[in-house]
Amino acid sequence: MYFSKPFVEWDEKDKEKYLSQQYYTALEAKEKFNAYITLRDFDEIVEEYKKKKGLLKGLLIPVKDNISTKGIKTTCGSKILSNYIPIYDAYVIDVLEKAGAIVLGKTNMDEFAMGNTGETSFYGPTLNPWDVSRVPGGSSSGSAVAVAWKGLAALGSDTGGSVRQPAGYTGILGLKPTYGLISRYGLVSYAESLEQIGPLARYSKDLALILYHMTEYDERDMTMSKSRKRNIIRKSLLDIANSVFIPSTTISDSLVAYSSKLVERSDENIQKLFYNALNYLEKMGVRLIDIDTVFLEPALSAYYIIAMVEASSNLARYDGTNYGLRVEAPSYWVSASATRTQGFGEEVKRRIIMGGFASSKGYEGRYYIRALKIRRWIKESLSSILENYTYFALPTSPMTPPKFGEAVGPEGYIQDIYTVVPNLTGHPAISIPVGFAEGLPVGIQFIGDYFSDADLIYIASLYEDHLYKPNKNPGGR
Ligand code: GLN
Repeated sequence: MYFSKPFVEWDEKDKEKYLSQQYYTALEAKEKFNAYITLRDFDEIVEEYKKKKGLLKGLLIPVKDNISTKGIKTTCGSKILSNYIPIYDAYVIDVLEKAGAIVLGKTNMDEFAMGNTGETSFYGPTLNPWDVSRVPGGSSSGSAVAVAWKGLAALGSDTGGSVRQPAGYTGILGLKPTYGLISRYGLVSYAESLEQIGPLARYSKDLALILYHMTEYDERDMTMSKSRKRNIIRKSLLDIANSVFIPSTTISDSLVAYSSKLVERSDENIQKLFYNALNYLEKMGVRLIDIDTVFLEPALSAYYIIAMVEASSNLARYDGTNYGLRVEAPSYWVSASATRTQGFGEEVKRRIIMGGFASSKGYEGRYYIRALKIRRWIKESLSSILENYTYFALPTSPMTPPKFGEAVGPEGYIQDIYTVVPNLTGHPAISIPVGFAEGLPVGIQFIGDYFSDADLIYIASLYEDHLYKPNKNPGGR
């Protein structure tokens, strides 16, 4: 009752046969784990399917609810957008649908992608299918669970780890692409200098195939990279999907840097699996080098300041005049204030207030400007590491998924200690499942140089069927 081979390997008959099964597993994920805010009507999907052509025909895609979908409610996990139906598709939706894929539904998420447990959603928390008393990670909680629960692939967004961290907590693959590789057109902004839309998948080949389509150039996003490397990556991604990929650095020539000091920040069971995963590569000829780096602590602080400042400015637009909820009142100010008071949850309000403060006159030098300086320093440090080594490895998270209520709000920020670094610098990073600690999935993270996205997926493929068994599902088959 789940898909024992990647979508890439399905023939026409499989596609017909698995259409209703994909829908059925989504229904289960919605009912058992609250993974979806909106699940589309099956009849509507079947009608669309009949008209589809292209490489992705037959693939139903769960999409995080902060990615704009024409005619389908897009709530961002918030009350303030609970009645918002966009009139346009995000660019990634456009290209995936042109290639034959169909949006299956909109997945549950932390409100406005602010959080890492899924608990800040107005629509209630998503449960982790490996242990329903624990969080699935966030903010792309529903997308991760939709894949982990017998699914294939989904879209999320990653501002400070929101694709990689829930991928790690639910035992699937999650990629934060190079900044500027994918159009953000139609992604509801949280902190746009940090975030990218990213794919989550069960199989590395499917991850590559979806990313291939997502990476078409879009002139509507001014931050899109114009580098010619785009074409090279796209070819490599197709090669991975077709099993003919040759990496730019062969595995026995690869140097993997890690920092034992940074790894020490993790729980012991995470450290064990981390080193076990690195040793696996070492046996394939990779050279491991322990380097001394110090940037984690400042990275977490700089990340939260920058993310909150950008968020407070981005969220100013929700005042009841253009989108979503509107509380009527005799004056604009009273109406806007009541709309925002009722429409936003606690975590979002905290960030709007903190972000406004950190960038306000008289304080910006102490907080925002300082955070930007730290960001530049981290970028230089990581870039020089990646000039000397092929990859930099870190655990995805310092712990296994916490129980509900244990790590929500500022107490939970520490979970992002390893994931925020590539968002500050723009480098691509992937989370790969490499084993279980007391029955809970654990991920390892590889960061590569700009535009090494395909190589990172290749690294994931080396673990597949070995330390990572994509056929293993929570609750058995
Ligand atoms: N947990 C981080 C935050 O709350 C990252 C969220 C994200 O990547 N969207 O900001």
